[in-house]
Amino acid sequence: MRKPLIAGNWKMYKTVSEAAAMLNDFKAKVADVKDAEIVICPVYTSLVEAVKVTKGSNVMIGAQDVYWEKEGAFTGQVSPQMIKDVGCTHTLIGHSERRQYFGETNETVNKKVKAALASGLIPIMCVGETLAEREKGNTFNVVESHTAGGLAGLSAEDARKLVIAYEPVWAIGTGKTATPAQAEEVHKFIRGVLEKLYDKNTAESMRILYGGSVKPENIGDLMSQANIDGGLVGGASLKADSFAQIVKFKI
Ligand code: PEP
Repeated sequence: MRKPLIAGNWKMYKTVSEAAAMLNDFKAKVADVKDAEIVICPVYTSLVEAVKVTKGSNVMIGAQDVYWEKEGAFTGQVSPQMIKDVGCTHTLIGHSERRQYFGETNETVNKKVKAALASGLIPIMCVGETLAEREKGNTFNVVESHTAGGLAGLSAEDARKLVIAYEPVWAIGTGKTATPAQAEEVHKFIRGVLEKLYDKNTAESMRILYGGSVKPENIGDLMSQANIDGGLVGGASLKADSFAQIVKFKI
């Protein structure tokens, strides 16, 4: 009942021409994929071109972040309305790199989630613990506070539109993937948090993606877990071949 979603986060990589070349190649490789939704999140400067290149294909384009105001004197920021205006469908919010380097908090994540939903974008809200937090036994506390904090004040109807990405920070860009069992344990916990915040139907309908060194070799095992509904992929989404293999995962 939950359609898998595979999203690529290009972080701060690729010029406009590099983005267009990859997307041209990639969209042809995944043209026959019907059983998963596909999103790629390039840097802001490539969004217009990325939407143009993927028009009419099964590849959707998202931003990597948004601000919560519609417009104004906020130098350097981009609003959800502007992201929607270029033809994007999704936006990442609260990625751990934003939390770590750019002062993102549960409160700012919450404002961004609300603004994104209000403008018709689908937020992919990232949650996850650092290695130190895991080692101290705080994984569940951190993940619960990211989830509940990011969703604060949202109705069940709005929450259902959103996607959650569980990304253990110690697994991002490190080559160290959580085992399918480790990931499933936290995904199941997040679904329980969603049930507590809303109700069983809402929790069951929401997609929870796993992110952290996802590769063609491990996506099948991760996707075989009951509560893993897709992947948020960094490094392996930069190349058409590896990302197409991930999108065409077999359990
Ligand atoms: C990410 O950027 O969200 C990510 C999970 O990166 P990687 O796949 O490279 O670990």
